[in-house]
Amino acid sequence: MRLTFIGPPGAGKGTQCARLARELGVPHLSSGEMLRQAVRQNTNVGRLSEDYLRQGLLVPDPLILEIIGKRVEEEDCRGGYLLDGFPRTEGQAVALDEFLRERQEPLDAALELVVPQAELLRRLAARGRDDDQQEVIRQRLVAYDEQTSPLVQYYRERGVLRTIDGVGDLDAVYERILRSVRRVARP
Ligand code: AMP
Repeated sequence: MRLTFIGPPGAGKGTQCARLARELGVPHLSSGEMLRQAVRQNTNVGRLSEDYLRQGLLVPDPLILEIIGKRVEEEDCRGGYLLDGFPRTEGQAVALDEFLRERQEPLDAALELVVPQAELLRRLAARGRDDDQQEVIRQRLVAYDEQTSPLVQYYRERGVLRTIDGVGDLDAVYERILRSVRRVARP
């Protein structure tokens, strides 16, 4: 199964995606985590990405495509994978579509986690990651609205969008995700 999670920062993508990946037995590919790791390891991509992460801006498409492109080619991704935080721009979505088309491996669903802005701000303030300070949070929400939220329509038009209410406790949201995923599961 190949799925992508779409949602603003603080919507719960990372937590829910990790749990679903364990349940489905497929890798959880978090583009943000890959970038943070690249920064920690001081790789070429890491050095080029660092300032964008710090400011809450999206890193340029070529960088993220390089890192994700390599990862999905790895052996453990053969049976599927869950994408968390990728694609985040229309350019990335088009690149992913091309990649999947070449392999005749369609995306099973794009899961959109919907959480109102006030709730997002509350959650992000409580989280305390390096890029969770006020101004950076604001910038990340702007990046989501301007660059990522158009993907909701992109995937709706392709018939793979599943919208999930992301408000409530973790287990309740996870149950909604599971129900949605069961409906799209291919034999
Ligand atoms: P996340 O952990 O998904 O919130 O991502 C943290 C940061 O990594 C974002 O604020 C961006 O700077 C960067 N990032 C993660 N995924 C992408 C992506 N698909 N495209 C561009 N930048 C990304």
